[in-house]
Amino acid sequence: MRKLIPFIVGLCTVVGLSCGRTSITRKSTGDGGGSQAEKNYYIVKKGGSIDDIAKKTEIPAWSILNCNPELDENTKFGPGEKIKLYEKYYEIQPNDTLYGIALQNHANYGALIDLNNIENPDLILAGDKLRIPCPGKKSKHKLEREEKNHAYIERKEPRKTGYVVFPSGLKLQIVNDPKLTRKGKEFYDPRSSGNPLFKVEVKDLGRAVSRHFTLGDFLEIHVPRLESPNYKLKLNGDEYFAYGRLDPDFVGRLEKTRTCVGEPIEVDSGYRPWGYHKRIYRDIYGKMETKKSLHPSGMAADISSRSTRRLNRCVADIFNNSGIGTYDDEGFVHVDNRKGKARWSL
Ligand SMILES: [Zn+2]
Repeated sequence: MRKLIPFIVGLCTVVGLSCGRTSITRKSTGDGGGSQAEKNYYIVKKGGSIDDIAKKTEIPAWSILNCNPELDENTKFGPGEKIKLYEKYYEIQPNDTLYGIALQNHANYGALIDLNNIENPDLILAGDKLRIPCPGKKSKHKLEREEKNHAYIERKEPRKTGYVVFPSGLKLQIVNDPKLTRKGKEFYDPRSSGNPLFKVEVKDLGRAVSRHFTLGDFLEIHVPRLESPNYKLKLNGDEYFAYGRLDPDFVGRLEKTRTCVGEPIEVDSGYRPWGYHKRIYRDIYGKMETKKSLHPSGMAADISSRSTRRLNRCVADIFNNSGIGTYDDEGFVHVDNRKGKARWSL
């Protein structure tokens, strides 16, 4: 048996066999088959629509549209036109994580997964190549003037021990510390939603809470100067809350929304600690009316995707026409997990 190992290694080198390594990107762009190095652009042969090119190249239409913001679903192409399909190729380095790669390249995590048909995000191998998606549309808003109606939710006592378990299987330890959660404290839950506070470490930020969303997506700080240095984490130049609340059922509904939309969804704002939320309202609107929001309970998010119309349709369906605020001019939708009907638009 001892002699067999060098033989296999030799064969891998000479013949170029993959030798047990699973390549993540198996599909070719249709330009001459898999043996040729894949290019991030396509030269139109016969002409056609974005959908034709998507079919031919096996690159989703949303990826092509994100790379070419001047185009839309109805654009027709003629022979010889050169169309960008995704941002670039990236070779996985030792110790890379998928989330780290997404952050480094300013790419949406869920988009990276879909563009590379990744089954298990924890199984990526150095030397394999990934397609990096072009940046999607992200809303620039800081905080919506929201919650016109007081949301109805059941009041529940949060569990004091154990774990919060997300649809991905990720478990986070519950923190029971009245110094953080008592009335008026930074991580108070004004709505008594029953969603317990959990502690976050930097290593958790990249972990998936569902197939297309990471914990970091919901915990990013958008106005860092308004959050206390004691309560924040830093990763790749971005800042995140060091504690969070996030309703696993709400995450499940967002994942369903993602499936319905069929293209990447950006979380523009997810959890907001109570103290931070108040400071933000004071800073931006000079007022204190903040108690109606479900963001400090981990049951709300402001989301956006390339097709606002499709996103609006999907959230109406999956959130059962309840707890939806549409902000078409600013390009995002507020969704929350309230009971009872409430819709507003601004
Ligand atoms: Zn909101």
